[in-house]
Amino acid sequence: MFPANFGYAAPRSVDEALQLLSKHGEEAKLLAGGHSLIPAMKLRLSSPRTLIDLGAVPGLRGVRLDGNTLAIGALTVHADVGSSDLVRKHLPGLAEAASVIGDVQVRNRGTIGGSVAHADPAADFPVILTALNATFVLQSTGGSRTVTADKFFVDYFTTAMEPNEILTEIIVPLPPAGTGTAYAKLAHPASGYVVVSAGAMITRQPSGSCTAARITIGGLGSGPVRAVASETELQGKALNAQNIAAAAAKAAEETDPDGDIYAGADYKRHMATVLARRAIEAAVKRAVT
Ligand SMILES: Cc1cc2nc3c(=O)[nH]c(=O)nc-3n(C[C@H](O)[C@H](O)[C@H](O)COP(=O)(O)OP(=O)(O)OC[C@H]3O[C@@H](n4cnc5c(N)ncnc54)[C@H](O)[C@@H]3O)c2cc1C
Repeated sequence: MFPANFGYAAPRSVDEALQLLSKHGEEAKLLAGGHSLIPAMKLRLSSPRTLIDLGAVPGLRGVRLDGNTLAIGALTVHADVGSSDLVRKHLPGLAEAASVIGDVQVRNRGTIGGSVAHADPAADFPVILTALNATFVLQSTGGSRTVTADKFFVDYFTTAMEPNEILTEIIVPLPPAGTGTAYAKLAHPASGYVVVSAGAMITRQPSGSCTAARITIGGLGSGPVRAVASETELQGKALNAQNIAAAAAKAAEETDPDGDIYAGADYKRHMATVLARRAIEAAVKRAVT
C-alpha cells in the first residue's frame, strides 16, 4: 500500500511549525513518530497534502522536573518515558504503561504526544495520563492554553485540540506523599494494543484508609473512562483486599463496550474489574506513607 502524494516540510522551531500549520490549514498533518499516521496514510484513511515533520524541532523531547510537576516533551518516545529515572521514581504507573506499548520498534519511534493526539481508543497513555490527572499544553500562533486529560479525550480519535494547535508538553503533577500509581493491561496478542486496561492513583493515610482515588479504564468506549463508582467506593475505606475487590467490581459500571472478534462485551467488562483490582492493589503497595 502506498500513500497519496504529499508535500513535506521540516521546520526548525515550534514557531515555524505553527506558521506552516496556519498556512496549510486542515490539509496539513503534523508528523511525530509516524507509527499511527503513516499506516493511516498507506491505507488512505488519511491523505494530508503536506506533512509537517516535528522531528527536527528542538525542545520538545525529554522529561524534566518543573516545581511540583513532571513536564514531558510531546516528542519524547515511549522508550524514554519508560526508562526515565524521574518517571520511574515519581510515576511508576506511567513508566509501566510506556513499557507495555507495542514492541521495541514502536516504543523507540512512537511519541507520547503522537499517542495522545491520535486518541486511539486502544492506546495506553490516554488511560494512565487520565488517572494521573495530566494536563496538555497546546500552542497556536495565538498563544498557548492547557486542557486537562478529563476534557482532552473527546471521542474516537478525537481530542479537544484545534487543527491549528501543536501539543508541546504534557504536565503531570507529582503525587502527594502516601500516593501510589499503577497500570495493568490485557494486550491484544497480535497487535499489542489494549483490549482492556486500568490506571490507578491511590492516596492513603498512615492509618491505612483511602483519602483519594483516581481510577481509569481503557478499552470499554471511545477513550479512557473514569471508574467513578470504584473511586467513590474506596473513599475513606481501609485499603484491604475486601474493600479493593468491592471497588474494582464497580469498574465497568455505566459502560457499554462493543464486543469484537477477539473479546465480547461481557468479557471486556469482566476484565475491567480484574485489571482495576490489580492496578489498585499495585498502587496501594507503592503508596508508602
Ligand atoms: C505495530 C504497532 C503496535 C502498536 N501498539 C500500541 C500499543 O500497544 N499501545 C499504544 O498505545 N499504541 C500502540 N501503537 C501506536 C503507537 O504508540 C504510535 O506511535 C502512537 O499512537 C502515535 O505516536 P507517533 O509519535 O507515532 O505519532 P504519529 O503517527 O506521527 O501521529 C499520530 C497523530 O498525532 C498527530 N500528532 C503527532 N504529534 C503531535 C503533536 N505534538 N501535536 C499535535 N498533533 C500531533 C499527527 O498529526 C497524527 O494525526 C502501535 C503502533 C504500531 C505500528
